[in-house]
Amino acid sequence: MENNLNSLAQLIQDELNKYDQKIDSSSIGEVVSVGDCIATVYGLDNAMYGELIEFSNNSYGIVMNINETSVGIALFGNNVTIKEGDMCKKTNKLVSVPVGDALLGRVVNALGEPIDDNGPIKTSEYRAVESPSPDIMDRSSVNEPLETGIKAIDSMIPIGKGQRELIIGDRQTGKTAIAIDTIINQKDKDTYCVYCSIGQKNSSLAQIVAKLKQYNALKYTTIVDASASEPSPMQYLAPFSATSIAEYWMHKGKNVLIIYDDLSKHAIAYRTLLLLLRRSPGREAYPGDIFYLHSRLLERSCKLSKELGGGSLTALPIVETQSGDISAYIPTNIISITDGQLFLSTNMFNSGFRPAIDSGLSVSRVGSAAQTKIMKEVSKNLRMKLASYHEMLDFSRFGSDLDKTTVSILKHGAVLTEVLKQKQYMPLSTSSEIIDIFIAQSGLLDDVEPHQIHKFLKLLDNTILANAKDIYQSINNKKEFSDEDKKRVTKMFVQLKESLKDSTNHLNDEEIYR
Ligand code: ATP
Ligand code: MG
Repeated sequence: MENNLNSLAQLIQDELNKYDQKIDSSSIGEVVSVGDCIATVYGLDNAMYGELIEFSNNSYGIVMNINETSVGIALFGNNVTIKEGDMCKKTNKLVSVPVGDALLGRVVNALGEPIDDNGPIKTSEYRAVESPSPDIMDRSSVNEPLETGIKAIDSMIPIGKGQRELIIGDRQTGKTAIAIDTIINQKDKDTYCVYCSIGQKNSSLAQIVAKLKQYNALKYTTIVDASASEPSPMQYLAPFSATSIAEYWMHKGKNVLIIYDDLSKHAIAYRTLLLLLRRSPGREAYPGDIFYLHSRLLERSCKLSKELGGGSLTALPIVETQSGDISAYIPTNIISITDGQLFLSTNMFNSGFRPAIDSGLSVSRVGSAAQTKIMKEVSKNLRMKLASYHEMLDFSRFGSDLDKTTVSILKHGAVLTEVLKQKQYMPLSTSSEIIDIFIAQSGLLDDVEPHQIHKFLKLLDNTILANAKDIYQSINNKKEFSDEDKKRVTKMFVQLKESLKDSTNHLNDEEIYR
């Protein structure tokens, strides 16, 4: 009997010894409930926030909520087929996206998977979507311009490499247009671009891709798309993935431009996601950490110090306002995170002043540190002149007789606003911008009919190209616009004006408007 008991005990001991230690209940879990792209899981005791979780049917999710008895997981993908009772396991990895030069010219989703029919992306490098932002000592100050090719921006609200400049305005005021023109203008400037589309229609994105292709800008651009039809976890993740893709190049010493179009839709996606996860709502039902969400995203844009390669990540986040209300919750949050904003005015847009940049409400906190010396010089007082023009304009509406000075301020202001108009998809080279603004500031255009202004500027551009190309070369290469050159340009312009005085040769305005 005792023998039997001993052998039984031995048997049990042997079985216990054979127990596979590798199965660790703290790294597996069971789905308790699932719905609206959220799975609540029992188990996963050691799960990390932001960790990638693999489900039994090969789909994935990200840990978003860690409760006492359960873990809330946001699921990726459109056709999630996870059911109650399914098993899942920890991967011990944070959610990562593929990065590298193979992503240039590609359209990917928030997980970095290609969605453009150009085959798989061949890269072996990955980067976590939530990477910490560079430390203060790793950064250097913003001191180099990122040329947008848009006269109103480069002259009055300059953007520097490593800066974060918000584009803010109501719907349909040309926000995306500014961002796309800036991408087009980076051609041959050794700057990579990442355009992150959040919550937009697929048709709008298709148009953007077609335009970038048409202007040869797709080859240095990556598009990260989380369209309106994608579930909220993908929309939440998209800007973080896009930043990781961009950051990789920044750490390789490149200049990178990233556009988030737009962060109001991102805030809404985050609100949806966290309400589904039953996190308590705060102001306007946004989660309490919405400010932290956007600040940790935008803090990743910076200019790195020379020792770290001197790369930069310039961010142009876009925010949509409702009836011009910039004091709403999300706009004020993002205004305070960024280094300035370009405010687009609906009134200006509708009355034909495009790009509709309101020079009074727009600001760049980096300021003229992000401007070249020549641009600083030619655009001096431009904002002041426009401000006094708008003030006078309001007064002149009373209809009283105006004195000579007021009339001349009004005339000059009208010329300046006309010169700052610019067509979409037509970013200008810095040298053309400088000549246009120099002529406008000189007052030589004040007696020209407003509808003729762009014709005159275009003809002057042609004349310089034909007869005095060295002026452009000196501006572009030596960053110099000498007094001698200024005199030559003025002389050429005066001659041009003389020769066109009696001319009946009216060029088609549409053709030359720029
Ligand atoms: P949404 O709120 O829908 O995202 P948005 O503010 O991004 O709109 P866009 O889509 O960029 O605005 O532009 C709205 C319309 O205005 C487009 O049809 C565009 O072609 C036109 N547009 C934008 N900028 C200019 C410009 N400088 N000159 C002429 N048309 C322009
Ligand atoms: Mg838009």
